[in-house]
Amino acid sequence: MLAQVKDNLIEWDKNHFIHPTSSIKEQQEAGPKCIFEEGNGIYLKDIDGKEYIDAMSSLWNVNIGHGRKELAQAAEEQMSKLAFSSAFSTFSHEPAIRLAKKIAGLTPGDLNAVFLTSGGSESNDSAFKLARHYWMISGKPERRKIISRKKAYHGVSAGATSATGIPEFWKMGGMLVPDFLHVETPYEIGTEEAINSIRKMIEQEGPETIAAFLAEPVQGAGGVIIPPDDYFRGVRKLCDEYGILFIADEVITGFGRTGKMFGLEHWDVVPDMMTFAKGVTSGYFPLGGVAVSDSIHDVLKEHSTGTLFHGFTYSGHPAASAVALKNIEIIENEGLVENAQKMGEELLKGFRQIKEQIDIVGDVRSIGLLGAVELVANPDTNKRFTPERKVAAKVIQALHDRGVICRAVTYDSTDIIAFAPPLIITREQVNDLVQTLHDAILEVRKTIT
Ligand code: PLP
Repeated sequence: MLAQVKDNLIEWDKNHFIHPTSSIKEQQEAGPKCIFEEGNGIYLKDIDGKEYIDAMSSLWNVNIGHGRKELAQAAEEQMSKLAFSSAFSTFSHEPAIRLAKKIAGLTPGDLNAVFLTSGGSESNDSAFKLARHYWMISGKPERRKIISRKKAYHGVSAGATSATGIPEFWKMGGMLVPDFLHVETPYEIGTEEAINSIRKMIEQEGPETIAAFLAEPVQGAGGVIIPPDDYFRGVRKLCDEYGILFIADEVITGFGRTGKMFGLEHWDVVPDMMTFAKGVTSGYFPLGGVAVSDSIHDVLKEHSTGTLFHGFTYSGHPAASAVALKNIEIIENEGLVENAQKMGEELLKGFRQIKEQIDIVGDVRSIGLLGAVELVANPDTNKRFTPERKVAAKVIQALHDRGVICRAVTYDSTDIIAFAPPLIITREQVNDLVQTLHDAILEVRKTIT
C-alpha cells in the first residue's frame, strides 16, 4: 500500500474512529495496532502484507476461518432476492424459518423455539427479559433476580453489562440494571464450594425472588476457565431444586468451539434457555439468538395475552440467516466439531510440552479449541507476577512480532494467554502455533530476573 494512503488511514482512524473495548490513549499515541486487509483460512494479512495466525478466531468467532466464498455467495444470493423484510407482527421469510428450525434441531434437549437477534449482548438481554416475562405470565412476577458469576462476560448492553462479572466493565457508567447478583466460579474453590455459594445466595435472597442462573459453560473473556466435570450437573440440580431457570451463554462455546456442538454437552446438561451468537455465522454477518425449552415456549403460547413487546429490527435478518445456514452446513459437512476436538488435544499436548520446558508456565488447559496458558512467577505455588511486570502483555507483543494474534487476560492480576483458533486448523498449523508460543514465552522469560 502507498505510504501516503497508509498515513491517511492512520490519521483518520485516530480522528474519527472510536474503537470498541480499546485504549483510546494507546490509539492516539500509536495509531491502530494493525490495519487488516485480507483473511484466508487461519490467517489475516495487514496492509503491509504481513501475515498473522489469527489464534483467537478474531473475537472467538471466525469458526470456519477467513475467506470462505460460500458464505459471500449465500449473502449475495439472499441479498439479490430479498435483502431485508421484517419479522415483526408475524411477518416471516424462508431463511429465518429454516434457521430457527435448524438451530432447534442442533440444540440439546427440548430447546425447540428460537428468538433471533444481531449478537451476543442482545441475546443475553433478550434471555433476561424472556425469563422475567415467563415468570410474570406464570403468576410469579417477583421472580426477577438474575444470578451470574464473577469473571463472567456476557456483553455490554445494559442487562449484559450488569450480568458481566468483571468489574472493569461496570466502571464506565455504573451498573445500570437492578436485580443482578454475582457468585463465585469454581476456578479456585472447586465444585462443592462454588455450588454452596450459589445455594447460599439463593437462600439469602429468597428463592421466590430468583428468575434465573446464568453461566458460560467455559468462561471465555474471564480467562478461559473450564469447570470441573461435576459443576454443571450440580448447577442443574440446584436450579431444579429451587425452580430457577438455567440460562447457558453459549456465545463463545456454541457451534463446535469446544469439540462438541455446544459446550454443555460435555456434561450432558440441558439448560432452559441457551444464548448463542459468534460461531453461528463465523462472524460473516452479525446474528445471535436465544433458544428456549418447550415448557417455556408452551407458557408463552398459552398465557401471552397480547404482543411480545420485544424485537430488534434485525431479528431474523434474511441475509444473516442465509449466511448462518451456510456456515452451519460447512461446520457439519467438514466435520469441524470433531476437528476442534482432535486439534484441541494436539494444542494441549503442545502447551504441556512448553510447560515442561519453561519455568514461568503455570496451568495450561484446553477444551476443544478453547485454551489458555497461565504465566506465573512460581508454577509450584502458583504465585503470580506483579501486574507492573506486564508479563502477559509482553508475550502477546512477542507473539505479534512473530505473526500470531492472541489475547491476554489480566483481570485480577492474572497473566493468561487465551487461544481460540479457527476450527479448520490443521495439525501442522497447531505445531507452528505452539512453536511460536514457545519462542515468544522464552524471549520474555529471558528478560525476567
Ligand atoms: N457472551 C459471551 C460469552 C461473550 O464472549 C460475548 C462476547 O465476547 C458476548 C456474550 C457478547 O456478544 P456481542 O459482543 O456479540 O454482543
